Amino acid sequence: MTTTVTPDLAARISAALSHAPTGLLIGESFRPSSSGKEFDVNDPATGQRLTSVADASPADALEALETAHRSQKAWAATPPRHRGDILRRAYELILERKADLALLMTLEMGKPLVESEAEITYGADFLRWFSEEAVRFGGRASTSPTGDTRIVTVQEPVGPSLLVTPWNFPLAMGTRKIGPALAAGCTVIVKPAALTPLSMNALGAILIEAGLPAGVLSIIPTSSSSPTVASLMSDRRLRKISFTGSTEVGKQLIRQSADQVLRVSMELGGNAPLIVCSDADVPHAAAEAMKAKLRNNGEACTAANVFWVHESVLAEFTAQVAAQFDELTVGPGYAAETNVGPIIDQRSADGLQELVEDALQRGAKIVSQRPSPENSGGSYFPPTLLTDVPRDARVVQEEIFGPIAPIVSWSDEDDLFNQLNASEYGLAAYLFTDDLTRARVFAERLEVGMVGINRGVLSNVAAPFGGIKHSGYGREGADVGINEYLSTKYLSVDAPL
Ligand code: NAP
Ligand code: MG
Repeated sequence: MTTTVTPDLAARISAALSHAPTGLLIGESFRPSSSGKEFDVNDPATGQRLTSVADASPADALEALETAHRSQKAWAATPPRHRGDILRRAYELILERKADLALLMTLEMGKPLVESEAEITYGADFLRWFSEEAVRFGGRASTSPTGDTRIVTVQEPVGPSLLVTPWNFPLAMGTRKIGPALAAGCTVIVKPAALTPLSMNALGAILIEAGLPAGVLSIIPTSSSSPTVASLMSDRRLRKISFTGSTEVGKQLIRQSADQVLRVSMELGGNAPLIVCSDADVPHAAAEAMKAKLRNNGEACTAANVFWVHESVLAEFTAQVAAQFDELTVGPGYAAETNVGPIIDQRSADGLQELVEDALQRGAKIVSQRPSPENSGGSYFPPTLLTDVPRDARVVQEEIFGPIAPIVSWSDEDDLFNQLNASEYGLAAYLFTDDLTRARVFAERLEVGMVGINRGVLSNVAAPFGGIKHSGYGREGADVGINEYLSTKYLSVDAPL
């Protein structure tokens, strides 16, 4: 398939790119890095360079921290209503510019435009949600058991916070942290993934336009994340790190956080099982399984990894999913007919190919494999539906992070849960059954932070997002998300009897 970029699309692409600042946001405006260095941002659909952005060094990062530290007191003292109003205004600006921002996101990340639009709506919603939470958190007062003391608690911002985000949701993984941090009164430094810094920079410009004071938010794209993040984490002015990304890097940052005893929130990898029971509504389960697998090109931490299907409905479920796979169109995210875009980069696409080869060598069979553009220069991978996948295949054991759907059958419940709960991960699971008791029992047995029951999509600003085990700790969104950026101070007030 070839997609020609029409003159109209080309004009919209250059407009979208021109709206994304390419500097570092430190202080009141975007500026070059101190070294003058830049790095390229590429379009995964073509492999071509889109633009270059300033490349922050550890020295730039420390300047951002100095700014965050200096701004902390005034920002914490800013009336909560005012902090909320800025977030609300930014939410509105994002929605007004949704089409432009979605195109920018698709250009740097690859997913279909409708998915970028969905992320922008979801991402903006965290700013609206936390604009409302900004005026709702508080402490409490009580009388001690002995009656001679009043116990008063107040909630204070933890202080300058480093927010490190991944490439797969370039905006929403940022707003899910920025919203609560700013609402709580923390100043922040955001380090976006080098593969996708443009959406974050565009968001930064919007927050400044919405009235965020200079110094409260810094954004430091960098091609050298490890030393840049390390320089911040070893500085005592930093008080918190919130990270979304791989378990491997998360563990490293947890270790690094010890030196300055930082507050830590970790949203790490997943390996979500999607379980189809014998009594499931199979057409519904198949349709939701497609969403759980292919949303965001399959590059989501909550993506269903393996479809675990009861043997009694295996043939029916497989046929229904295969029929939907056979309809998929792979192409550039900005082409209207595309359902699955390019993978983020060639290294990731090659990794997916290795997973399929490993499964085939162990006896798996391909039920459906969609053609993908050839000789485009893009990092495409053909969506692949596999059956007869043995349980020791890498595609079962590891987080896939792409459009490969392995189907594994099960018959014995205990055996199934032994297998699933042996995973180091514990982020999400999906469950399809029409039996309410079974749904409850299965959900309680699953060692995960989130369970979708007869639903293939979990994300919701009003719900607590997060995992257990090696999927991390802390929760984002909901009423609890702001707590990650607050610490409780207790005042013991003398009240003699
Ligand atoms: P990653 O390689 O761990 O990178 C995440 C972020 O950390 C990026 O900004 C990256 O910057 C930075 N980074 C990488 N190495 C670092 C180091 N040594 N020190 C400091 N920072 C470092 O993850 P990814 O490949 O971007 O994202 C995919 C992973 O994220 C998957 O495992 C997925 O499950 C997970 N994820 C989890 C959630 C959740 O909420 N639980 C949500 C989305 C994604 P550079 O890339 O520029 O080096
Ligand atoms: Mg990585």
